[in-house]
Amino acid sequence: MAERIEWQLLDTVDSTNAQLLKQLSMKEPRALACVAEQQLAGKGRRGREWVSPYGQNIYLSLALPFSGGAQKLEGLSLLVGLVLVETLESCGFRNCALKWPNDVLLGGRKLAGILIELAGDLTSDCVAVIGVGINVLMNDAAAAIDQAWTSLLLSRQDGTLNRNLLIAEFIRRLFEAVAVFREAGFAPFVEEWQRHDAWYGQPVVVRTGAVITEGVERGVDQRGALRLDVAEGQVLLNGGEVSLRLS
Ligand code: ATP
Repeated sequence: MAERIEWQLLDTVDSTNAQLLKQLSMKEPRALACVAEQQLAGKGRRGREWVSPYGQNIYLSLALPFSGGAQKLEGLSLLVGLVLVETLESCGFRNCALKWPNDVLLGGRKLAGILIELAGDLTSDCVAVIGVGINVLMNDAAAAIDQAWTSLLLSRQDGTLNRNLLIAEFIRRLFEAVAVFREAGFAPFVEEWQRHDAWYGQPVVVRTGAVITEGVERGVDQRGALRLDVAEGQVLLNGGEVSLRLS
């Protein structure tokens, strides 16, 4: 899909998602992108923080208009994770996997996070602001992260990576995938997603607010909901409030 993107390249920003959300025009929706060297208030899901020190990481947001309302976007965040894993593989990082709904792991440790925020009319024309944080080379500021994490250059012997090429390849692949997604939703990507599923078949614990469910992870359905085998049968879980851990 030939789509024009309006770019902003920033040094420091509160958050690349917040920057694009401030600038959206619902009257003339268009593709916007923002990259920064540092985020002072990087966002994760549910108000959590994305630790975003200055240096060589990637903080990227892309605003894409969609029609058909929020329900047509089910599975989009899984799709973005899948495209990111495939992009990283194409750059030679073979050990990447997905943790539902959209964390990217490298060697079992968290490498990248994705946050999608919606704006506009969620029943018709809306804009998805897709935020992606990728650890390329982390410094000590990251000591505050409360789970196992890694960064790309820790696993590359020559210690180099062209961030611009990685971003360009990611966006090229994302536009291709989104063109399919606009027509057919997440269904065509289920098999590919499951091929990269880090915890398929493993016992997991799922926290939904205060409720804890234990089960065996069985991949995703056509809308991107997580399939979990529990004592009573199979349940489906949706992304919003849910957190997944190995048991
Ligand atoms: P969960 O891991 O429970 O699914 P989540 O998907 O809601 O959480 P995200 O929103 O993707 O998490 O990311 C926020 C979390 O990721 C933080 O709470 C922290 O544990 C971890 N984190 C924050 N910054 C980084 C970073 N730069 N690299 C790796 N992990 C990070």
